[in-house]
Amino acid sequence: MTHPHAAPARAAAFLIALGGLMTNDAVPARAAAAPAPAPVERIVAAALADSSAFALLADLCDTAGSRLNGSEGQRRAVAWALDRLRAGGLDDVRAEPVTVPHWVRGRETCTLLEPYEQPLTMLGLGGSVGTPPGGIAAEVLAVRDFDELEARAPEAAGRLVLFDPPWEGYGKTVQYRGRGAVAAARHGAVGCLIRSVTDRSLATPHTGIMRYDKGDTIPRIPAAALSVEDAALLTRLARRGPVRVRLEMGAAQLPDAPSANVVADLTGRELPDEVVLAGAHLDSWDAGCGAHDDGAGCAIVMEAVMLLKRLDLAPRRTLRVVLFADEEMTQQGGRGYARDHADELPRHRAALECDSGGFAPAGFTVQADSATVARFAALAAPLAPLGADAVTPGGGGVDISFLAEAGVPLIGHRVHGEHYFDVHHSPADTLDKVDPADLQRNVAAVAGLLWAIAEAP
Ligand code: ZN
Ligand code: ZN
Repeated sequence: MTHPHAAPARAAAFLIALGGLMTNDAVPARAAAAPAPAPVERIVAAALADSSAFALLADLCDTAGSRLNGSEGQRRAVAWALDRLRAGGLDDVRAEPVTVPHWVRGRETCTLLEPYEQPLTMLGLGGSVGTPPGGIAAEVLAVRDFDELEARAPEAAGRLVLFDPPWEGYGKTVQYRGRGAVAAARHGAVGCLIRSVTDRSLATPHTGIMRYDKGDTIPRIPAAALSVEDAALLTRLARRGPVRVRLEMGAAQLPDAPSANVVADLTGRELPDEVVLAGAHLDSWDAGCGAHDDGAGCAIVMEAVMLLKRLDLAPRRTLRVVLFADEEMTQQGGRGYARDHADELPRHRAALECDSGGFAPAGFTVQADSATVARFAALAAPLAPLGADAVTPGGGGVDISFLAEAGVPLIGHRVHGEHYFDVHHSPADTLDKVDPADLQRNVAAVAGLLWAIAEAP
């Protein structure tokens, strides 16, 4: 594993070294020869000499804003992306329609009533029902986890159940966000509160999708996240005596709304029907502006491909940018792309997704047979100066996961994301959390790998 602080210095040294190489390349000694495919090193150097990615991300964050399904922000973002990809000179820039769920947050508050009155820091969970006007006031049953709820099930009826589990990594702790409300309602709870799904907190609540029972036999109760601090406060107070809270949420599920995947090609010069896909998701939560999740991914894939266009490099195979709709809720963008492009999928040579934030690059995971993993690892070797050459077996990304069935090798972009969940799905996921140099290094890594795959024999 590359030391995170070593990468920038080594990348800078690499850039200086390549600056010399590029100057030599400019000497027209081989002017008569057919243009040789540009090596990955030249693309990396050009990307590192550029600073467009952060400006692009700032533009998205500041002009579109947050991009919740069905919102004006999402519509602005689709128009913005079409505009920018056209201005970047890509081919066949289009919006491919999909229909997305349209959940609205409304006004919401959570207030501690007993043992004393105090506002609590909260965010309703995506997909939650609202409360009746005036809210629900009830005693809190604070439990650590699903096991404790089962053990104390007779106490849950008529209560607001608070899940306050320890952070055990996103994959494990997020289960309380996903199915806490169903578990609590099964035992008669009237509402569900969860500790925000994050490791560290400075009093920021973190939202995200939750789900109800598909069979609809279990009542739909409102669900919200509290800041880590307020969840811990309620847990401590509950050990001292009765704790009462009022939860008021104006959330509602409206009829599904029109949205779109934004798609653009850099057409292949020899094998235009063969596609190497570079994806990210354009939707975000409404808290913050989704700078890391997934504005950064959008900026990286857009810039990676537009950079190649600016360098006047046409890859052998088509490079395709796809900015997916609705990753955060029901993945209609990913499902829609797989459905609408089913005929083409046998000619998709790889699909890469950037949805890990814009922190310093750390390499890639590949979901494919071991020979393909080894082949992609060899292609990523020139990315060592960026700290982005580590290729290990692993998942690609939620939106491209729907391409796995067709046998498309999937690539996940990895970063040094130790601080990703500090801001993830919270009001703190804003532009100032993104380091422009880190973002640009990701453009270099992704552009280099995309080019290598698109050129490969
Ligand atoms: Zn995401
Ligand atoms: Zn997300």
